[in-house]
Amino acid sequence: MAPSLEVEDLGAPATKPTPEVKALDDKYREEREKRLNKSGTSQFREAKGKLARFAIDPWTEEIVRDPVNEDVEVLIVGGGFGGLLAATRLIDAGVDDIRIVDKAGDFGGVWYWNRYPGVECDTEAYIYLPLLEETKYVPTAKFAPGAEIHAHALNIAKMNNLQAKAHFRTEVLSLTWSDSLARWVATTSRGDTIRARFVISAIGILHKLHLPGIQGIENFAGHSFHSGRWDFAYTGGDRFNAPLDKIRGKRIGIVGTGASSIQALPHLARSGAEVYVFQRTPSSVDAKPNPPTDRTWFESLQPGWQEHRAENFERILSGQPQDIDLVNDGWTHFMLAMEALGKDSSTPMDDILKKVDIKAMESLRSRVEEIVKDKKTAEALKPWYGRLCKRPCFHNEYLDCFNYPNVHLIHTDGKGVDKVSEKGVVSNGKEFELDCIIYATGFDWGTDYSQRANMTIKGRNGLTLTEKWEDGPSTLHGIIGRDFPNFLTFTHLQSSTSPNYTGLLSERAKHAAYLISEAKKRGIRTIEPTEEAEAAWVKRMEDVAIARLGYFKECTPGYLNSEGTLSPSTARGASLGLDSPVYNEMLDKWRKAGTMEGIEIDRK
Ligand code: NDP
Repeated sequence: MAPSLEVEDLGAPATKPTPEVKALDDKYREEREKRLNKSGTSQFREAKGKLARFAIDPWTEEIVRDPVNEDVEVLIVGGGFGGLLAATRLIDAGVDDIRIVDKAGDFGGVWYWNRYPGVECDTEAYIYLPLLEETKYVPTAKFAPGAEIHAHALNIAKMNNLQAKAHFRTEVLSLTWSDSLARWVATTSRGDTIRARFVISAIGILHKLHLPGIQGIENFAGHSFHSGRWDFAYTGGDRFNAPLDKIRGKRIGIVGTGASSIQALPHLARSGAEVYVFQRTPSSVDAKPNPPTDRTWFESLQPGWQEHRAENFERILSGQPQDIDLVNDGWTHFMLAMEALGKDSSTPMDDILKKVDIKAMESLRSRVEEIVKDKKTAEALKPWYGRLCKRPCFHNEYLDCFNYPNVHLIHTDGKGVDKVSEKGVVSNGKEFELDCIIYATGFDWGTDYSQRANMTIKGRNGLTLTEKWEDGPSTLHGIIGRDFPNFLTFTHLQSSTSPNYTGLLSERAKHAAYLISEAKKRGIRTIEPTEEAEAAWVKRMEDVAIARLGYFKECTPGYLNSEGTLSPSTARGASLGLDSPVYNEMLDKWRKAGTMEGIEIDRK
């Protein structure tokens, strides 16, 4: 039985929980323990060998070209928003000799790959879509669909003439530092050799799809694909949400209930004959009001508005009082509720977070009950974990799908599906015969960086990045590391955190452009952190992560807590950095000082 809870009764600090809070803590722990998996982030199967077809690019024909052998100033690995922003800022700073390499057939990163029906972004478009003032683009609504976001990425590329600087359908296989050349030497899947003075590794965080760690995926006799490579040829429809007319009469299974599955389900439910949703852990799903853009308002915005709006969002999220909540969405409401409770209160912040968190989750569990008519199904769809444990989802139709007679929730109660057979999915010991299985099982997030990048990265004296990061990442500012001169990474590690990932990328791009253009101006051959500066930064990031671990280590497993394996000893690799405004201000001050503090400079 779910514990009943009167949120207003939660006056006592969490150190002395009320019986209701204690019951809830027990319930959360019980649900977490069901889901802990010894294999952690390595539980998944990669799309390689017999499963390699799951990763094939369905969107672009094979590109035929001869291998190139070239020298450039900057090689950018990745043509998503990270690569696009880096290129834009470099060009602004006068560095034009750029090569962008991406395994995709065009720019756009995750928005190139993810074209499943219903795909959209649940971070507000006015802050998520970068460079709106520069491109003069007006988003159609508060939350933009994937096709629109992808078109915007292509627009940014066009604005900067980046097409001519890109090699698509090309994977960088290795990056090796040559001390004698003072260049990185890249080899690619096309037989290219590219020598670059600087490398920016903007590979993204959700680019390498993975499949569930179960047997039999390769034996299924029906059709199957991953949500990140949607097969419209099979389902019918398109990325603009035309009906999936080819699955009428078909039995469809979708494995996974994260953000992708939630957005795709309503489309499957409208067309599929029978739709089976295999759930390991329910997502929390809030409503998503999405008004169209008021053009009069948009046109009245003053220069500098986008940075100001994004900053307002980040400051609210980091608990800095603001006169106004410009973005006014689920994220800011959550933080503002905390602030309101914390005002004039001597209650510790952790207890306030708990109180607000419980209230928010109770309201989301009630939302399930209000929408889903069948009691047993509603119970199984309730999320039993803290609000920030998994990426919160927002959708107006998802829960209602479970009222459709053709949609069946197969709740595995934390166990996940058992296996795939020739005929379908075996779950809770029962075989569900299917015509098609869609794996909405997410992306590789927490494994070794080089594994996720699919590149061998060798710094000075043949030291690989995997060896250097054996005990966890080691960087200065999350961007540059010793023994890997002139190699800049854009990651979520040892830096700052935000649900607005393009906001983080904007800051990384600004910093990378500064480092590279200054090196050029000052005649610098190589830059890398001093041992002391890197060690101090790693220690600082470790302390920040450990201070924040409390919340996440108690969380149900998910990619945000490395599938439940987060602990003080792994804190170095946690994506729990500084609040964005703190990080951004620190880097801004660092750049303004102009001394490149903590960086060893070689001018030889
Ligand atoms: P997720 O990693 O969020 O979800 C994967 C799903 O697969 C989870 O429900 C997971 O269950 C389930 N799963 C994994 N293994 C098994 C198994 N063996 N049996 C059954 N189920 C299994 O992937 P998504 O593609 O949904 O989303 C990835 C991320 O992309 C999001 O979290 C978000 O950050 C981003 N995204 C953002 C969007 C936006 O609007 N901003 C839209 C779409 C994606 P469990 O929870 O138990 O691990």
